[in-house]
Amino acid sequence: MAQRIGLVAHDDKKDDMVAFARANRERLAGFELYGTGTTGARVTEGTGLEITLLKSGPLGGDAQLGAMIAEGRLDALIFFIDPLSAMPHDVDIKSLIRLAMVYDIPLACNRSTASAVLTAL
Ligand code: PGA
Repeated sequence: MAQRIGLVAHDDKKDDMVAFARANRERLAGFELYGTGTTGARVTEGTGLEITLLKSGPLGGDAQLGAMIAEGRLDALIFFIDPLSAMPHDVDIKSLIRLAMVYDIPLACNRSTASAVLTAL
């Protein structure tokens, strides 16, 4: 079974995520991909990759990914966080990061780490 990767990028980081996905398109195509609504749609638009779209982050998408981690249904998380903006769903973001730590799944918060994680999976 293909390993499952979650993709999330805050607004200021969405271009980065699309660029990362373009550069790693072939490798990413070998995984089952899940994305928060806007991030997933942007990556699909930019790469043609098939991504299961969850709700938008502020509307529960981060919480859905957290639940997937808790249930053992996500193998890695690529989460491009904007460190310079306040987010209305800050508690969900913290919860998602926390669950990735609790369940010890690879968590990549920037492009260079995401490349390393993709190589390691
Ligand atoms: P989005 O959610 O992909 O729907 O924009 C990401 C987020 O801001 O958590």
